[in-house]
Amino acid sequence: RRMSTYATTNPATGETLQTFESLDDAGVEDALARATAAFEGWRAATPAERAQALARTADLYEERAEELAATITTEMGKRKKEALGEVQLAADIYRWYSEHGPALLEPESLDVPGAQESLVETEPIGPLVGVMPWNYPYYQVARFVAPNLMVGNTILLKHAGICAASALLMEELLHKGGVPVDAYINVFASTDQIATMIADPRVQGVSLTGSEAAGASVAETAGKNLKKAVLELGGSDAFLVLGDADVDSVLDIAATARLSNTGQACNSPKRFIVPRDVHDRFVAGLTERFEGSALGDPADENVDVGPLSSVSARDGVVEQVRKAVEQGASLHTGGDAVDGDGAFMRPAVLSGITPEMDAYSEEIFGPVAMVYPVDSVDEAVALANDTSFGLSGSVWSTDLDRAKEIADRLEVGMAYVNEHGTTLPGLPFGGVKRSGFGRELGKWGMGEFVNTRLRRTS
Ligand code: NAP
Repeated sequence: RRMSTYATTNPATGETLQTFESLDDAGVEDALARATAAFEGWRAATPAERAQALARTADLYEERAEELAATITTEMGKRKKEALGEVQLAADIYRWYSEHGPALLEPESLDVPGAQESLVETEPIGPLVGVMPWNYPYYQVARFVAPNLMVGNTILLKHAGICAASALLMEELLHKGGVPVDAYINVFASTDQIATMIADPRVQGVSLTGSEAAGASVAETAGKNLKKAVLELGGSDAFLVLGDADVDSVLDIAATARLSNTGQACNSPKRFIVPRDVHDRFVAGLTERFEGSALGDPADENVDVGPLSSVSARDGVVEQVRKAVEQGASLHTGGDAVDGDGAFMRPAVLSGITPEMDAYSEEIFGPVAMVYPVDSVDEAVALANDTSFGLSGSVWSTDLDRAKEIADRLEVGMAYVNEHGTTLPGLPFGGVKRSGFGRELGKWGMGEFVNTRLRRTS
């Protein structure tokens, strides 16, 4: 297994600004011991006390929004406006759990005969390991951490190697907000050390958001050690445009959604499935919009598309486009790296992709749209579902009843009509098939790492 390194490298310039010291094995043991010791006190705190710490954390995120946003702009290249939006979303998640968490923890009395009382209680289970990716550094962590701290679990958090600076800020804000120092511990750990932690009897579960490879590795260790795992993995979301849709307004949304976060979202619409007679217009519309998007420094508010998260990530996406063309796909614009030390590439539009090509089945984690023509709704649904992924998908139409029926046929965890990728604190988030298992956010996110405990009295 490879070593993780923790460093801040600005993907807009290629400059490495800071490196961070990783944990040694004694540090791993120390973190495990502290998270375990802290569990007793944190679970004994009242739900109202835990909620208060989350509410204060939400306030701190808002107070320090500029600094938090600037940090991820520097370390993973998110545009300033998007970074501020993400900080607000993370604050909203902490606040949502502070407001709704205590009620969700109320015991439930079941009306089952044969005893005086059948009570179902929701109890924490202990220290958890979280492994998080760089694409939404604050949001990904918040949706795992907020519900689990609310429940009373304690957390060892391993962030992506390129997000060390934001990882330290999050730890600082949670502690300042009132979460006990040992109830949330940031660990700059290697993947081997993460495996050690998952296997450790003191750890009760693991949640990973990231690639299929990382998910499989973590799930293997979790399975071997009989630990619960939640996995939020990749996606290749379909965006189904029906014949009655208003193509121009849908095109505006499609282009913006695909370029959001420089295309690096698990639930970005990656495959645009359109009626055959709309295909050429759709390709031309995306091409025009991609070419009209200003590429540049993500700190500059006039820029529409920033760099990818790193030069190696950029090179991987450029290579996927090159291979698609080599295998016979049509490239309508972009797809090439921009000269210089930054991790920029020109957004690409591909069409003519057939099942034999790698692009048909791979996730493309960057600013690349693939457009497919179809002759019927049945063909559209079959194509949308012909993927190993099952994260989300959307249907675009002016006929809502018909669109809802079609949305019900998508094999996904999240189906949308006339929107794509909405994430809000109270809505469940997660996928099926190789997009993973388990759910985050809402009441569902609070139900993953708990002891749903029955107490029956006759
Ligand atoms: P990644 O390489 O899997 O990294 C994610 C995290 O896993 C990082 O902290 C990484 O650490 C760690 N990691 C990698 N291999 C590991 C292993 N063997 N054991 C333990 N930890 C390991 O993913 P990425 O390239 O950063 O992110 C892109 C992927 O995440 C895409 O496939 C995307 O679709 C998916 N994603 C899914 C969701 C969702 O909610 N479904 C959301 C966002 C992203 P290092 O950084 O130190 O390597």
